[in-house]
Amino acid sequence: MSLSEHELGRYRRQLILDGWGPGTQEKLRNSKVFVAGAGGLGCAAALNLTLAGVGHIRICDSDTVELTNLNRQFLHPEQNIGREKTLSATETLRGLNSAIAIEPVTREINEESVAELVGDADLILDCLDNFPGRYTLSKHAAENNIPLVFAAIWGMEGRLTFLHPPATPCLSCLFPRAPERHEIPVLGGVACTSGSLQALEAINYLSSSRPTLAGRMLIMDYQTMRFQELEIARNPDCPVCGGRGQEGGQTGA
Ligand SMILES: [Zn+2]
Repeated sequence: MSLSEHELGRYRRQLILDGWGPGTQEKLRNSKVFVAGAGGLGCAAALNLTLAGVGHIRICDSDTVELTNLNRQFLHPEQNIGREKTLSATETLRGLNSAIAIEPVTREINEESVAELVGDADLILDCLDNFPGRYTLSKHAAENNIPLVFAAIWGMEGRLTFLHPPATPCLSCLFPRAPERHEIPVLGGVACTSGSLQALEAINYLSSSRPTLAGRMLIMDYQTMRFQELEIARNPDCPVCGGRGQEGGQTGA
């Protein structure tokens, strides 16, 4: 189905981007994205996917809005303290773009729920703040060949990469063990910028199927305003993805 008059108007300024056009916009409209987490990263990532016109966004979080969230989680207005984060975020996002479907799911992501929650998503955005949930998502993504955009923040630093083994590492290749859990120090701008970059990586993939951060970890230091990148590779002994893609001469690393 071609773009409606409303869509042609709403997306006019991106339709004139080099190499974009209606075909790219239709690709975004036909995409399903699973956003894991409606916190600092998730708010910014979901906002940018919404504005860009990604057609189906499922946003998943099991928490309610707390006062200490408000320095960064801008989709939640003050009066929504105590409400489910997914409902609060969805209400705001729907007010920004009625031309797409946004689906809130208030559930915890674990071994039992992950398959049903992710469903037939084309892409996963890992916007979580805990490693058990991140490992569960990454394992499900690797086993079901679903690409995943990983972002993490700590203090004034952010990290971002695209995971799709066997072409790239999985999360367990990069972090064999979960770091100790602490309360993460964070500034709103760090979460917003990192989540926005995460959404841009997703849009690049969905619009062209060319992930720009495959095999590279972008490290954003917001204190010095220096961005660096590291080459990252699969661990051939990784218990999650190590055996994948070895047949038929595909090492993919
Ligand atoms: Zn791995």
